[in-house]
Parts: sequence; C-alpha cells; structure tokens
Amino acid sequence: MKTFTITTSKRTEFVNLDSYVSEAIQESNVQNGIVCVYVPHTTAGITINENADPDVLHDLEQVLDKLIPWHGNYQHAEGNSPAHVKASLMGSSIQVIIKDGTLVLGTWQSIFFCEFDGPRTRKVFIKILPSE
Ligand code: ZN
Repeated sequence: MKTFTITTSKRTEFVNLDSYVSEAIQESNVQNGIVCVYVPHTTAGITINENADPDVLHDLEQVLDKLIPWHGNYQHAEGNSPAHVKASLMGSSIQVIIKDGTLVLGTWQSIFFCEFDGPRTRKVFIKILPSE
C-alpha cells in the first residue's frame, strides 16, 4: 500500500489526485488490475468528476453548501457536522480499472480528494490489486 500526504488551504477544496495515482501505478509495475484510492478521514471524501471545466467543481461545492449549510441545528460538539455529512455523501474510496499500466478514466474524468474541513494535512491510501 502506498500512502501520500496532501495539504489543503481552504475549508472546502477539491484536489486532483490523478498524478499521484498514476505514479503509484507506474511504481507498482502492474499492467492490469484495480486501484483503490481510500481517504482515512471523517471530514474529507473522494469522488470522480469532471476535470475540464472548473465550474463543475464550483457548482458541486455550491450545491453541497446549499444542501448542508455550515450553520444549523447540529449536535456534534466539534462544530463541523456539515463536513462529516458531506464526507459521507462523497464516500471514502473509489476504484478505477488499470489497463496497460494506465488508469481507465473517461475523457473528462479525474479523481478528486474532497476537503470539507480544511485547511488540514491529509492522508490518502492507494492499494493496487493486480488481475493477472
Ligand atoms: Zn467532528
């Protein structure tokens, strides 16, 4: 398993992980299989979405903020309940097929780490499972 660290600079931030994941695949020498990218945090998540138009990530943030406002009737004493809810909506892991040593993503797709309670230093775990 490979672990890497990322540092976010805003409360909400989407970080493109494609280069980290591709580097891990190259280091592994695995040509075909599955890569699992896992985020071990309760106020951050991971998603696959559009990499071409940054407005898509802006709109995703806006919709999440509208659905889950920062101020509300939350009970969690730490005061960051919206970040916990957003993390659960995005999920903690994604899986992508590896073919011929490269990630099989759609033309417009990228893997994004989703920070919801930054700025923080975060970890991402990558596990590569060969299929042959
Ligand atoms: Zn909390």
